[in-house]
Amino acid sequence: MMGALAAGLAWFVADTYRGTRLLQWVRTGDVAQTAPASGLWGETAERVRRLVRVRERMTSESQDRLNDFLGALQASPNGVTLLDVQGRIEWFNHTASQHFGLDARRDMQQYFGNLVRDPGFAAYLAGRDYSHELAVPGRASTALRPVNLSVQLHPYGEGRLLLLSRDVTAVQQAEAMRRDFVANVSHEIRTPLTVLSGFVETLQTLTLTEPERERYLGTMALQAQRMQTLVNDLLMLSRLEGSPPPGLADWVSMPNLMAELEREGRELSAVLSAKVSRVVTLVFEVQCQCELSGSASELLSAASNLVSNAIRYTPPSGEVHVSLSPLPDGNVEFSVRDTGPGIAPEHIPRLTERFYRIDRSRSRDTGGTGLGLAIVKHVAQRHGAELTIASTPGHGSKFSIIFPLERVRQIG
Ligand code: ADP
Repeated sequence: MMGALAAGLAWFVADTYRGTRLLQWVRTGDVAQTAPASGLWGETAERVRRLVRVRERMTSESQDRLNDFLGALQASPNGVTLLDVQGRIEWFNHTASQHFGLDARRDMQQYFGNLVRDPGFAAYLAGRDYSHELAVPGRASTALRPVNLSVQLHPYGEGRLLLLSRDVTAVQQAEAMRRDFVANVSHEIRTPLTVLSGFVETLQTLTLTEPERERYLGTMALQAQRMQTLVNDLLMLSRLEGSPPPGLADWVSMPNLMAELEREGRELSAVLSAKVSRVVTLVFEVQCQCELSGSASELLSAASNLVSNAIRYTPPSGEVHVSLSPLPDGNVEFSVRDTGPGIAPEHIPRLTERFYRIDRSRSRDTGGTGLGLAIVKHVAQRHGAELTIASTPGHGSKFSIIFPLERVRQIG
């Protein structure tokens, strides 16, 4: 009897010890280690171990999936901000933080409406009608450099909100430029057209003497020529914008191009000097017996625009110096220097904008379209070259196109 009691007690103590060790193992939670138990306790432990493993795998899979989703939202080019039922920030991506100036450590759980204090947005948020987008200024917006955002709220889940934001500054600027361009073109065409139709009416209604008729027809031809030049420049610009840049396989002889340029320049100078008594001195200098890879027609167009500008803006008795010369680093410089009125520094960055003119009447009187330097800049870019403008008001200007060494080869 005593023996049976002692054996029962021993079994109880041993079992309690095994149970305590197992409990310790469960508490430490290291399921990678085998359970310190056998028998009934051992099997129980093995089942607990498997269960915990399955749970761990499921948790890790859902975490991976969540990270994938957040990664995808992070990669979105649009700003994404998630708001809870109260309108507090739960999560936002990097783009949204830039749009609204949000800080991940500071602004989580903050009320979004308190951080974006635009009255229009406050009304939009409160209005509960999110069927349309709303324009709000971006955090980095200043009077000089506006940043315009387009935002829209999308309800999801139970009362939560997804806020999408897009930076529309560049699109709006492009749209404004397109509108300005159309308005400018219409204005440029309307002016000669008005003159032309006025003269047509005069010719139709009045009896004119032969010299008067000649004079009127001369003016009409000039206006028609002006419209033609404008349309040609517009077509040239649209070709430059819409076609792939010239490849490296075609080589243009620069001495030949310089000769053609000189012929054109002297012709223009003769036409302009017929109106005034004195003549601009033209000097052409070719110091580089080389070829450039690119488009002959584009290069000639760019170079002749610079020469034509220099001749047109330089007063009689001034000098225009056109040169092609190698630079010490192997690049080649085409430059046109004049002793004209020069250009004030504030105008220089804007000269290559379409229709930007400093002296409007001088440009028109000498047949300018306001598109010449825009064409030059495009051609230079398409040839990997750089257009530089240096000028001293009252003393003259120098326009240079620097062609990179890779596009130059000596004539053999
Ligand atoms: P435009 O047809 O009016 O000459 P451009 O695009 O060729 O148009 O030139 C833009 C403006 O830059 C001109 O209207 C003129 O005011 C200025 N400009 C260009 N070249 C010269 C120059 N060599 N000297 C002074 N001003 C110049």
